[in-house]
Order: sequence, then C-alpha cells, then structure tokens
Amino acid sequence: MSRLMIPRRRFLAGSLASAAIAAPFGIVRGAPVTFAADPYTLGVASGCPRENSVILWTRLAPQPLEEGGMPPAPVEVEWQVAEDEGFARIAAKGVARATVELAHSVHAEVDGLRPGRVYWYRFRAGSAMSPIGRTRTAPARGNSRFRFAFASCQQYEQGYFAAYRDMAARDLDLVVHLGDYIYEKSWGWRHVRQHGVGIPTTLPEFRNRYALYKTDADLQAAHAAFPWLSIWDDHEVADDYANDRSYTTRDPEQFLKVRAAAYQAYYEHMPLPLSARPIGPNATIYEHYRFGDMLDMLLLDDRQYRSAPACVNGGRPTTVPDCAERTGEMRTMLGRSQEQWLDARLGAQNGRWTMVAQQTLMAEARHREAEGGDCYWMDGWDGYPNARRRLLDSIVTHNVRNPVVIGGDRHAYYAADLKRDFSRPQDPTIATEFVGTSITSDGPSEGSIRNALENNPELIYARGDKRGYAVVELDDQTCTVGFEALDDVKDARSEVRRLATFVVEDGVPGVKVG
Ligand code: FE
Ligand code: CA
Repeated sequence: MSRLMIPRRRFLAGSLASAAIAAPFGIVRGAPVTFAADPYTLGVASGCPRENSVILWTRLAPQPLEEGGMPPAPVEVEWQVAEDEGFARIAAKGVARATVELAHSVHAEVDGLRPGRVYWYRFRAGSAMSPIGRTRTAPARGNSRFRFAFASCQQYEQGYFAAYRDMAARDLDLVVHLGDYIYEKSWGWRHVRQHGVGIPTTLPEFRNRYALYKTDADLQAAHAAFPWLSIWDDHEVADDYANDRSYTTRDPEQFLKVRAAAYQAYYEHMPLPLSARPIGPNATIYEHYRFGDMLDMLLLDDRQYRSAPACVNGGRPTTVPDCAERTGEMRTMLGRSQEQWLDARLGAQNGRWTMVAQQTLMAEARHREAEGGDCYWMDGWDGYPNARRRLLDSIVTHNVRNPVVIGGDRHAYYAADLKRDFSRPQDPTIATEFVGTSITSDGPSEGSIRNALENNPELIYARGDKRGYAVVELDDQTCTVGFEALDDVKDARSEVRRLATFVVEDGVPGVKVG
C-alpha cells in the first residue's frame, strides 16, 4: 500500500460525522437549506481528469429511491478542493447549482489545478457536509508510470460489489468503466438482492435505478478513491439496443424517448463534463484523454450510432448463423462522425501506449456448430466486421504506437491478438486486446468459452466463470494487465486474487503471458 492510501472508513464516514467539524465554507449567503436526512446518500465522485482540471460530482438525494426527496427548488452547493486531507491548503473552491432539471446533481468543473497530483474534495449544502473524496489530475509530460483499473457489467441482483472494495484499496491513478453500470432488467438466478421494481423506461424510474446502485458502499468507495472515465453500453438503456433500434421497444420513436430518459439519468449520475449532457436522445460521450507521455485513452461509444443488427430480422441479436447482411460494407459501429474523429485521433501524436476503450470484445469469436456453418454474436464487433476492419486499418495506416484495446460486455476475461483478417492467423498482430470480466453479472457457459478458444486462434485466453475486474500498469517498456477475480461474488466479504497476468512489450503487439 502506498502512503497515499486513505483508510476506507474515512470515505464512508458520511456527512453526519463530518458535519460536526464543518465550519461553513463562507461563500453562499442567504437562507440556509436544511435537510431532514443526509443528502449525500449516493456518495461523491470525480472524473475526466486533465492536467489542470477535474469534474467533481455528487447528487443531493435524502430519499434516494423516491426520486431523491428534494423540494422542487435549486440549491447552491459549495465545493472545495484541497492539497491535503485536512483541507488546510485549499487549491480551489466554488459554488455549483443543483437544479431540479438535473435531479439536484452537481457537476463542478474545477480548473487551475496542478498536473499529476492528488487532491481531496468535499461539498457543502446548508450545514450538510459531504464525505471526502480523493482525486488525481492527469500527469504532465515526463511521467514514467501509470496505473488504472477497468471494469464493467454490475448487475445488482446477481452479486455484491466486493470487487470495488478491493479496487478502492489499491494505488491507482484512474478507473475506466466500460458500461453496464446499471441493468434495466432482472435476469440470472441466485439473486443476493433485488431491484424491487420493474424495467425503467421513464426519467424518474431511471433515476431511481441509478440511486439504488449508487447506494452501494463499495461502489461509492471506488468512486471516492479515484477519478473515473466512463462510457455506457446497452443496459444503461435497454438490452442489446442499436442506435434507435431495440427488440424490446420496436417503435424507434418510442424507443428514442426511453433512450433520452436513460442518457439523461446517466449524465446526472456520473462525473461527466457539460459536453456530455444529452440534448434529447443524443449525447456525445466519445472523448480523448492524455496522461502525460505514457498514455492516450480513446473512449468510444459503439451503441448510439451503430447500424441495426444483422441477420436477426429485428429480433434479439444473439449468436446466429452468418448471412450476407453481416458483411455489408456500409455497416457502422461508431457512425461516420465518430469514425472520422477516431481516425484523426489515431493519426495525431500520441503517447507510448494508446488505449482504445470500448464496450465489447473486438476479436473475432466465431462459433462453430457441429452441423453446418459459422455463427456470430451479432451484438458485438462480429456483427460489424467491416467497421472493425476500418478501425484496425486506421491503426495500421497511422502506425499507432502500442495500440491496446480494452473492453467489457462479455462477462468473461479475454486476451487476444487483433488481426486485420482473422481467417489468417499467420498475419502480423496489429493490436492487443484485453476484456475484463463482469463486476457481478453472470458469465457464459463453459461450453461456449471452449468453443470460442477452439475456433479462434487469436483468442489467447478466455475464462467465463470468474467475476472481477482488470488492473493495467504502464511503464516505458511494458503494459502489464492483471485479471483480478473474486472468490465468490455472492459473498459480500469475498477476497480478490490475481487469476492471470499478461504483458505487452513496447513495440511488439500481441499477448505474452506475464
Ligand atoms: Fe453486461
Ligand atoms: Ca452489454
């Protein structure tokens, strides 16, 4: 443990304990707001770290599962950022307005910070002081090391967030969340806790679902410990949706209303910049972040702009037999604008490691039936092979330095060598891929994992029976990826242990066993 670590209990001490020692920050004048109960039930968070700035987040929600329980009026919320845990050296302070329109969430964009250093932050509304969070700005050039975790897929009913408790105790610079932060639906078996209500489709219902997930103390601890970058996948809106298509809400106009509510609730509950605020059913979350000389992180959105699923005739895009539609040249995963942005980004001067953070498995995972031909999972990149080829071509064209793809969605660990043509395993590897498993969500069957490994030589490793996350350590020579797995996701106190370690060497794309 580094000396920068804070005991976890401090994050969880809550506003009532800290309120006792809190002198007013002395910015807001006028009638003080009062709360009948602790308004910081959803914790605090930070995100989108840049060299001089970071986003601070909280939401005032004294009754989190009942649309927050706030009166229908805006509240001025003070925030402080300090260089020390005791808030003796204040680095920045200000006031943010928590409005009814945004469910009394706060997104404070803090500027003027110094690069590559730890800060502590807190909020105050009236006399209610928030728990203290810790964050870290992006390093300036000249850094020699960077560590982050990536995670995805946290169905609340299927297990406890013990993985986040483990994560919060580590020495990390960043957490990257790759989607399925909430689940709209109940599924799986052996539930340890309940959503308690049905599938959300309206804004109040989505707000309540986020609130339920975010009341989890372990999830709050991971948010309070590190800055996050986050992108959504499908379950933040609806299972396996594609752009304006959903097999659960077939009328696109009706579905876009659900998507607008879902995107709005996502924005309200994550430490996102104003640039990500939705306008109706649209929101821009694809973005680029630089971490000194070491890392460029490219966050993609492969849900909002993608072509309709192939070969399923409007039905659920599962693993189905191949058809001509799948290989259509015009099919897109990112949409034209994002694809052009990504190509330009890949062509720009980047750091030693270029991470492409996206939702799912990029490597081909052909499923071979005993009788007949190949089947493909139409919801993933296998349903959009030419879009994948264009992305990999862009990496080759721009001679991208050390490209590494990270993904989630599949509820299994994967390590893979990405090829331009997956039917030619002898071809050079273009990029290296790692997929974290799920924080809690049920994994695939042993049989499907075995089938994937047998029929896809570029898949170096696949394991579906473990829940957890991944840790990435970068230095000048090596990218080291550790798969951190829970002993038992149904046990709130479960331990985490290293399941496998892989390395990518500078200048040598491809998975090596670490
Ligand atoms: Fe998932
Ligand atoms: Ca998913």
